[in-house]
Amino acid sequence: MNSDLTKQLVDKFPKLYSKNFHFSVGDGWYGILYDLSAKLSEYIDNADEELLEQMRETGIDFDQTCLVGQCKEKFGSLRYYLNCGMPKEVNDIVDVVEDIAGTICEVCGKEGKMRNGGWIKCLCDEHDENRKK
Ligand SMILES: [Zn+2]
Repeated sequence: MNSDLTKQLVDKFPKLYSKNFHFSVGDGWYGILYDLSAKLSEYIDNADEELLEQMRETGIDFDQTCLVGQCKEKFGSLRYYLNCGMPKEVNDIVDVVEDIAGTICEVCGKEGKMRNGGWIKCLCDEHDENRKK
């Protein structure tokens, strides 16, 4: 993801992403990552003591650590890893967005699907054609 879009997410969601966080995905997934980040951020902001304690025990301390460990593309799919154990409902939110990413062109954000051809990527018709040239 380009540095402008990366900066927007990092600046907007400081509890999720460290200052030098790197999104190893295409720009087309910015929109779904923004939505996912907003949901996670809201969830954390409303977390009760019990949840915060659970997060601390499983490896996160917001003074030093951000929630998201890694965000990358692998075999055309979005992989989004958190730095600590979270309740099932949070993991479900992440799972849903990972599934949605499989229907969105990683280059431009339009409707896409999984394409084979050397390496697997989720692309729209146009960007799949471009790739073959
Ligand atoms: Zn596209």
